[in-house]
Amino acid sequence: MHYFTSILLIAGLFTIPSFGFPQTKTDNNIEKLISQMSLEEKVGQMTNIGLTAVCKGPFWNDTDSLEIDTLKLKKMLLKYHVGSIQNKGKYPPSVYEWHRLISIIQDFQINQSRLKIPVLFGIDGVHGANYTASSTVFPHQIACAATWDPIFAEKTGEVTAYEMRASSIPWNYAPVLDISYQPLWGRIYETYGEDTYLASQMGIAYIKGSQGNDLTNDKKAAVCLKHFIGYGVPYNGKDRSTAIISDLDLKEYFIPPFEEAIRAGAKTIMLNSGSVNGIPGHINHHLITDILKGELGFEGFVISDWDDLSKLVGAHNVARDNKEAAKLAVLAGMDMCMVPYDESFAIHLTELVNEGQVPVERINDAVRRILRVKFELGLFDNPYTNPESYPLFGSKEFSDASYEAAQECITLLKNENGILPLKKTSKILVTGPTSNSINYLNGGWSRTWSGVEENYNDPGKSSVLDAIIEKIGKANVSFAMGSGIDKEIDIDAAVKLAEECDFIIACLGESPATEKPSDIDDLDLPEAQLNLVKELALTGKPIILVLLEGRPRVINEIEGLSQAIIMAYLPGQEGGKAIADVLFGDFNPCGRLPYTYPRYSGSIWKYNHKGADAMDKDFTLKGFQPQFEFGEGLSYTSFEYSVPILSTDTISTGDSLTIKVDITNTGKIYGKEVVQLYKRDMVATVSPDIKKLVRFKKIGLEPGETKTVSFTIYTKDLAFVGTNNEWITETGEFQVLIGGTPKNLQTKKFYYRQK
Ligand code: BGC
Repeated sequence: MHYFTSILLIAGLFTIPSFGFPQTKTDNNIEKLISQMSLEEKVGQMTNIGLTAVCKGPFWNDTDSLEIDTLKLKKMLLKYHVGSIQNKGKYPPSVYEWHRLISIIQDFQINQSRLKIPVLFGIDGVHGANYTASSTVFPHQIACAATWDPIFAEKTGEVTAYEMRASSIPWNYAPVLDISYQPLWGRIYETYGEDTYLASQMGIAYIKGSQGNDLTNDKKAAVCLKHFIGYGVPYNGKDRSTAIISDLDLKEYFIPPFEEAIRAGAKTIMLNSGSVNGIPGHINHHLITDILKGELGFEGFVISDWDDLSKLVGAHNVARDNKEAAKLAVLAGMDMCMVPYDESFAIHLTELVNEGQVPVERINDAVRRILRVKFELGLFDNPYTNPESYPLFGSKEFSDASYEAAQECITLLKNENGILPLKKTSKILVTGPTSNSINYLNGGWSRTWSGVEENYNDPGKSSVLDAIIEKIGKANVSFAMGSGIDKEIDIDAAVKLAEECDFIIACLGESPATEKPSDIDDLDLPEAQLNLVKELALTGKPIILVLLEGRPRVINEIEGLSQAIIMAYLPGQEGGKAIADVLFGDFNPCGRLPYTYPRYSGSIWKYNHKGADAMDKDFTLKGFQPQFEFGEGLSYTSFEYSVPILSTDTISTGDSLTIKVDITNTGKIYGKEVVQLYKRDMVATVSPDIKKLVRFKKIGLEPGETKTVSFTIYTKDLAFVGTNNEWITETGEFQVLIGGTPKNLQTKKFYYRQK
């Protein structure tokens, strides 16, 4: 060994984790433990079970408090050496209850198990620590993406980690880095939308907020990126089904957010429950071992999704039984299995190793990865926390952060003749199925899995109706539901009230839904809601649509009947107030769509489609006519752009190009603008995207104020994945397109010459 290298190694400054010779203190600890572990103990580390598997029943009740069943705990922790537990029963425990449950588990493990390896507890904190009662609920990821400002992803990650740690939970099954341009898919609201670059920037920021740079800090939580890979574009739109993705597309659009997140230090990754090109995510050795752990250099551990071994048997039909499924998944590179309720995986895997079907080195590799995360989280020193050390849990400071994110996500999609903002003296009819409950603001994964139950809602939070009444007074507001999500209720009553008001605010959208139950057959907004708007329109009173929906439901039949449209996504429980602020001008909207909003359910687009995709019946290239475009969003003020200036008109390999533009607020109020920079490759050997986002920046401008925004792009920003499945940049003409809305981008051409 080189002298200098050996000095570094001794100083513990650098690690070579997988070659068998430990380097840092953590490596030493890991190797020491592994050398002492029996096969059963190792396999137990790879086993993740649901909390209720160690609880006394009934655990799916509303009211009964969860109680640990010592016999079950003994069996799972001492006999099967289970190393990881997750999730909850039906209701969301308080921080104190979490502390009680997790401290029992950890104390038991520390006091009674042979090697005293702490249990790693994980949960879905997908928009705040949503499974802890009274925690701060943030906008869902799709709404966060609509802020086009990574600071909100970072803040969400930071507060979520803090409040999860207050609940003694150090591991979060978030963020979702699936790219999705399949609007039928019900989980699109859990993603950062359809664009690779936007999702990557949001993901990096979330990880920074959640993990910081020292996970032993008991205010930080390890992330779990989901769902590697291609989960977000099922071709039939149904959850957990098949995606067809070329290798080129996989590399260009789907892998980069994960790659960036790994670079940002993400510790764990969850697999795709569906399949890509016919190979289920859980057994794809090429994707998990060659690409994720090989090419991308991921050193953390890979967990299965919920009960996915059974799905390999019962749905994907690639294994005869769960034992064979365990073998295929572990050999493919899965390190931990979310079983979720029994010890079967541990038994099967032990047998497989004893039978020589799975090499023990694969087991050691998985255990090494898992133990590393436990050490990095400081769990050996602090297996649980004291809720009293978290004074900011559920604080006003945190709900203000959620409120701010909700305001920033709201996207004004239409504002005919500047009808918005409304005067606070106006007479308003509030109507529509999503107007009068915070469940429609929160969506799925809110206190309960489905997010439908109302009895766990936090007191004191405002629905849209509440918030409007709070803002303009009861005397100015009338209310009739008009229609439910898909059933007419009292449209006549709404119409009657409409006749006496100045404006109608119709809150439409979807029921909260999670995973499979969110599958739909029709992207159109349900007929009952369309009918409500059609009937109201006959009164001639101006209609403002407020959309509270996890995915973009088709509204083209009623778009023309409304004078203004506000997209609020699933803005979280401060969303009612944020919507009212926008409606009445206390907040100037500045969100931008993070996906393409379809006009017809049979016409699905992504903004970065290929030229040929936009060919219409007349063979002109004008076929791209979605209802609203990715990046669209209006303001109550106006912005003017100077002609962009490029630092050069030709760059070659290794050079950079700077694009500068001045933006002036030409209106009368403060406003925020999202400056978007796209690139276009004019001719390439693989049909290039019509445009592709490469940079963005959100800026605030006082009336009359001008700011210069400057972006620098590099050769790699011009690259695409070529026919040999490698990133390449080809000599030729390019364009940059810059502006605040896709409807009005200024273009400038430049050339790239390969050196
Ligand atoms: C979901 C995951 C989630 C897991 C644990 C699965 O069904 O697909 O996103 O993290 O359950 O709750």
